[in-house]
Amino acid sequence: MFQLMVIRGIPVALSFSYLFPVVLYGLETIQISVMLPVVYFIVLTASLLVHEFGHALVAAKYRLEPRVVLWALGGLTFHQPAPDTRAEAQVIVAGPAAGLAFGAVIWGIGQSLQSADPLFFRKNPLLGEGYTLAIYINIWWSLINLLPIFPLDGGHLLRVGLMRYKRDRKRNTQIVHGVGAALGLGAVLLAWNAGMRFGAFLGVLLIWENVKILWGDAAPGPAPTHNHHGDDLLADGEAALGRGDAREAVRLAYQVKAVSRLSREQTDRMWTLLGLATTELGDYDDALAYLQRAPNTEAVEAARARCVTALRR
Ligand SMILES: [Zn+2]
Repeated sequence: MFQLMVIRGIPVALSFSYLFPVVLYGLETIQISVMLPVVYFIVLTASLLVHEFGHALVAAKYRLEPRVVLWALGGLTFHQPAPDTRAEAQVIVAGPAAGLAFGAVIWGIGQSLQSADPLFFRKNPLLGEGYTLAIYINIWWSLINLLPIFPLDGGHLLRVGLMRYKRDRKRNTQIVHGVGAALGLGAVLLAWNAGMRFGAFLGVLLIWENVKILWGDAAPGPAPTHNHHGDDLLADGEAALGRGDAREAVRLAYQVKAVSRLSREQTDRMWTLLGLATTELGDYDDALAYLQRAPNTEAVEAARARCVTALRR
């Protein structure tokens, strides 16, 4: 993971895993033209950034400290929890909306080039390839992304819509992931019938993401109760952090994480401990992800600020 750039105060990081699909596609197409992988890389990166910055700029408007990461399966925007469902819905919709707007501009340029010279893309095959890919990602993928299948943007939107209608977390979780699994299955069957093996594989991943949560949520047994074993580990971990032994604190926090049925309060303490200790170790990327899940205390805020500053450098 390395810091790529900062655009309008929003840090953009690149995970090395982002290069896997690029290299794979490059090896496949480099015989056709050396420039083809380059065109592919530029179009893909620009399209992902437009989509993520749709999310990120609206999140920044609400001061949610967004940051963007590009990785193997596309882009991700991390931000602080939105103040209400309306703001959250705006942040979610802005991604596909930015993609569709970008796609429309490219389509318009493509149309005017072709009306000036109907053979334009045939004479400039590299531009033709780039154009086709840009339309595919920005128009088609933006529309697919709006389907109410978690973890696509449409799935998040469905959850926010349900929460707005009725704040029943358990029931809404079941609806969102039930719908996600059912539509995912439909997508797998459609893709398999159309001979799109990779599409079918992605569909299976979507189903799994939903089923995992449904099973977790429907797990039998009593509601989470206070766990004394967890309490001891947390106290030891907090003491270790207090005496400056961050490595030991992280080790203990991971043990707490492995304890099943933590209470809400224990979970909060676990993320706080893990986030603060990881910050001390200078592992700012991971630390931010942990701190994101910790409740807002003064120490957590200070650690977050430290991570964001360190990552911007
Ligand atoms: Zn998105």
